[in-house]
Amino acid sequence: ASKAVAATIGSAFVEIANAIDGAADELGHLDAVAGDGDHGIGMQRGVHAGRDAALAAVEAGAGAETTLRHAAEAWGDRAGGTSGVIWATILRSLAGALGDAADVSRVEISAGVDAARDAVTSFGKAKVGDKTMIDAIVPFADELRERIAAGDSLVEAWSHASGVAEEAAQETAALKATLGRAKSHGDKSIGTPDPGAVSFALICTTVSDVLAQ
Ligand code: ADP
Ligand code: MG
Ligand code: MG
Repeated sequence: ASKAVAATIGSAFVEIANAIDGAADELGHLDAVAGDGDHGIGMQRGVHAGRDAALAAVEAGAGAETTLRHAAEAWGDRAGGTSGVIWATILRSLAGALGDAADVSRVEISAGVDAARDAVTSFGKAKVGDKTMIDAIVPFADELRERIAAGDSLVEAWSHASGVAEEAAQETAALKATLGRAKSHGDKSIGTPDPGAVSFALICTTVSDVLAQ
């Protein structure tokens, strides 16, 4: 039932907020190398608001789509910064793909991740290699879609895709930032991974743990 899906989304938000709280200092340090240093605090503001909105929606009996839409709105309103707008976009895309109906299939979830990738690309115009979270989203979406098409369970597919995202996020260290605030300090970013790619992969891995429970 979609209420069970919504409850899983609520649990995922609790765990994601804990993970971001734990990583906030590191994310801030990564963003300070070639950006403005606010990625940790911005993600914390966004995810706390998203978690609270999601839990309130679940409590009120909302389905998956409505829960994610409330979380998206709260995250975008409270986070500030580029990544806040992007995370609101990701959550809205997932909401649209999942729907409020009784059941959610793994193909719908994969389609939601593809839609999120497309929406973020259309919003930010970043390509793979520009040293943004796109460098983690694209391989994550590809791996998830391919694994599900090959017959993996959602838990297996999401777990493998999260590993791919973690690796891809770390590999952004070799790149030079060309977009966003980092573009004026691009050379300084070489040797440090992109903060938005790192937080994206952390969120994927946290969701993977929730799905496996
Ligand atoms: P801000 O740059 O406004 O301070 P944050 O520090 O919270 O916002 O987020 C920075 C992250 O946002 C970057 O590390 C990158 O991953 C992501 N980002 C920035 N610009 C883009 C873009 N055009 N497309 C995709 N992601 C982007
Ligand atoms: Mg920043
Ligand atoms: Mg900022």
